[in-house]
Amino acid sequence: MGRLSDKLAIVTGAARGLGKGIAEKLAIEGAKVVIVDLNEEICKEVVQEFSDHGYRVTSYAANIANQDEVQNLFNYVADEFGTVDILVNNAGINRDSTLHKMSVEQWQQVIDVNLTGTFFCTQEATKQMKEKKYGRIISISSASWLGNFGQANYAASKAGVVGLMKTAARELARNNITCNAICPGFIDTDMTRGVPDKVWDQMISKIPMGRAGSPSDVGNMIAFLASDEASYITGEVINVGGGMVL
Ligand code: NAD
Repeated sequence: MGRLSDKLAIVTGAARGLGKGIAEKLAIEGAKVVIVDLNEEICKEVVQEFSDHGYRVTSYAANIANQDEVQNLFNYVADEFGTVDILVNNAGINRDSTLHKMSVEQWQQVIDVNLTGTFFCTQEATKQMKEKKYGRIISISSASWLGNFGQANYAASKAGVVGLMKTAARELARNNITCNAICPGFIDTDMTRGVPDKVWDQMISKIPMGRAGSPSDVGNMIAFLASDEASYITGEVINVGGGMVL
């Protein structure tokens, strides 16, 4: 019996990277996990891989930036498995460019997925959570929310996620729903593997722990925040970055 054995969790952007690591950690703790991502085939491959380990997982393909698709996702989950206990808003993208070169498309795409998508999922989840007076919402922000060169769109979206979680925490505490933001530092995923070697080395040199984080480093914090042990923690912004932000 894990800490989350009677819980139903939805993790967005869970077909790879951080989301996949988070989904695995929640599943190891006993939760039934719904893997949400854009591509149905890739979702099914992850479900197969996790099922081979004995985890209780299923998947649903949806674009979290599309409100209809998000509503369909939450209705489907409620009909098939019951109401959601844990939502991890992880899906996110970057479209980096310096401010003066940034197109409105680059700006909007990042805001639409990282911030508006997180709003859509949070709103749908809380409809279900309020009824049963229980919920855990954990959103992935970023150390970049404090500002990062070439990431005006991304930093704005991730600062927005912090504001969204703090407001949701205030509004939903009376319903026994906690809402927190996690700020990963520099985590080894496809997103960060895309940077040039020189930038990778520069990033590592800024981390006191001297290494990139792993998805399981973040997953361990999420599992704690999702558990009963964290029932009095809400509205917090927690760095998981090996000391990158001190
Ligand atoms: P990744 O690109 O490896 O994975 C992101 C996943 O999200 C992909 O599977 C992708 O298909 C999915 N996704 C993208 N847009 C989607 C949409 N509209 N609807 C549904 N799914 C969508 O990225 P990652 O490094 O694993 O990052 C995960 C989250 O962590 C993101 O929110 C990112 O901003 C954040 N983050 C990452 C780092 C890092 O160092 N990797 C640091 C801080 C924050």
